[in-house]
Amino acid sequence: MNEFDYIIVGGGSAGSVLANRLSAKSANKVLLLEAGIDTPHGNIPPEVHNSYPGTVYFDPRFHWNTLKVSLQAKEHNRPEAPRPPIRKYEQARVMGGGSSINGQLANRGAPNDYDDWGRQGAEGWSWEKCFPYFKKVERDMDFADDYHGKEGRIPVRRLFQEDWPGHAHAVADAFAKMGHKYLPDQNGRWEDGYFPVSISNIYDRRVSAAIGYLDPATRQRPNLTIQAETQVSEILFDGLKATGVKAVHRGQTQTFGAREVILCTGAIHSPAHLMRNGIGPAGHLRDKGIEVRHGLPGVGQNLMEHPALGLAAFLHPRYRQPERIKRHIHVGLRYSSGIGGAPQGDMLMIQIAKSTWHQVGWRLGSLLMSVYKSYSTGEVTLDTRDYRDEPIVDFELCSDRRDLDRMMDAYRRAIGVYRHPSLAGVVETPFPAAYSDRVRAFAQVTTKNKVMTQLAGWAMDSNAKLRDYVIKNVIAEGPTVDDLMRSDDVLEQFIRENIHGIWHASCTNRMGADSDPMAVTTGTGRVRGMMGLRVCDASIMPSVPCANTNFPTLMTAEKIADHILAGQ
Ligand SMILES: Cc1cc2nc3c(=O)[nH]c(=O)nc-3n(C[C@H](O)[C@H](O)[C@H](O)COP(=O)(O)OP(=O)(O)OC[C@H]3O[C@@H](n4cnc5c(N)ncnc54)[C@H](O)[C@@H]3O)c2cc1C
Repeated sequence: MNEFDYIIVGGGSAGSVLANRLSAKSANKVLLLEAGIDTPHGNIPPEVHNSYPGTVYFDPRFHWNTLKVSLQAKEHNRPEAPRPPIRKYEQARVMGGGSSINGQLANRGAPNDYDDWGRQGAEGWSWEKCFPYFKKVERDMDFADDYHGKEGRIPVRRLFQEDWPGHAHAVADAFAKMGHKYLPDQNGRWEDGYFPVSISNIYDRRVSAAIGYLDPATRQRPNLTIQAETQVSEILFDGLKATGVKAVHRGQTQTFGAREVILCTGAIHSPAHLMRNGIGPAGHLRDKGIEVRHGLPGVGQNLMEHPALGLAAFLHPRYRQPERIKRHIHVGLRYSSGIGGAPQGDMLMIQIAKSTWHQVGWRLGSLLMSVYKSYSTGEVTLDTRDYRDEPIVDFELCSDRRDLDRMMDAYRRAIGVYRHPSLAGVVETPFPAAYSDRVRAFAQVTTKNKVMTQLAGWAMDSNAKLRDYVIKNVIAEGPTVDDLMRSDDVLEQFIRENIHGIWHASCTNRMGADSDPMAVTTGTGRVRGMMGLRVCDASIMPSVPCANTNFPTLMTAEKIADHILAGQ
């Protein structure tokens, strides 16, 4: 059996950071195992490298394709009510993980988020402790002040006003006239205002965690072995000590031994691995016929996301995104809802100039509203004990009334933006953009979709009547904007039925104090009650920050790497 000091399971955002940092010490023998394909320099799939992420989001070559989840809240007062509908939830299966297929938005969240982590029992975590690691991750290309790092592995930049299409200018103008302040730097001081969104990108190309941290020099280290297309099926134990893993590589079972196994398989798969290997809520494990190795009731609980919904509108030709600009998201607005005691900057609205890659998407601008300080929680449980079966995932978005109320308020605000005089002659016929299976099916790059959307696009431009017909009968589903504005009940129902996430699954193995029975991991990522077993990915966050989760995950991995190197 091949022996290592550390086996990192999952080469995603966190796994790529750990592979780099742990192998920087030549005495450490490190193995990185990733289920998906590799993306080495010189052989990065063009869809992954592309600045425009709208095709890779929906490209099944880079996904866990049988993963299906329910997003909406269950009717807890009606136990006989059916489970909310299930549908695909894209999770990356490729080197770099989420950072290889994500929207590249690169931000950090509120200082208060990380102080909350400390208050929630994650020892050693606070804004003061996390901030240096955010700086360590990044190489900011635009700002050189105390808020930024200059030497990190992930370049961060923004598209400033001169590179915005007409839609972005008009939305920004509406934000300004509604009294919002312009912030040149989204990652500067945490205050409300609108800003050019920051992205992990250089020379108009994505920089994933794999591109940034698993560069050619790192890959040449003799003490680092990277093996892609290898799915870990089992963790091996000697009592309560993890001793290695079993994995399947191109149909062959392999066994690897290690001093320490580090799960970096993301917030859905990491708790599933623990549970399959006998670590989790004892009753649930027994129900699934799994022998309990160590009872930890918090495993898979506390699943968090950012509830989100969009409002789309037909874009007049002059305001569409020109071919030369690849990025489709340009302006964001952080604001404070003042609802339900939420902290400052709890909400985000982003402007999207091109709703998706095809000819219909190019003619539709949209606003995406998101509850950034969310409170709703769901769970990950096992369907079966077989490693090939995906777990059951219930997000329960907007199950917390505070999230629902703020989403209702956000929706009304977004309609106000599209109806603002700054948008007159820019957009027309705003409609609720449900993120339905039909919309997602059209978002896959196929010849049939190209042809059909070309025809629909042509019809939309040809005359107002035809355009209205296509929008109302082919694109939009459900109530109109007028219906939503007329009745709170209709708006609430629409949100309950259509709320979706933005792929920010997190918090299912949360860090916490010794005294907290629901804590799964310690402040250094160690699995409580176990030896030689750690988790390092988005699952260990105690609560989801007011940020897109890639940078918080990279920061977390940088910090955990230092704990490991310090022998903690
Ligand atoms: C479509 C999409 C868009 C997003 N947009 C943004 C955005 O714009 N900005 C942002 O900040 N965040 C965004 N996110 C979220 C962000 O990318 C994730 O929060 C982050 O990547 C999570 O990192 P992780 O290390 O926890 O998990 P991942 O990066 O998902 O890594 C887990 C890795 O483990 C591998 N794995 C799983 N099981 C096994 C196994 N059994 N054996 C071997 N390998 C295994 C997976 O294949 C994967 O590569 C987006 C995510 C998605 C999916």
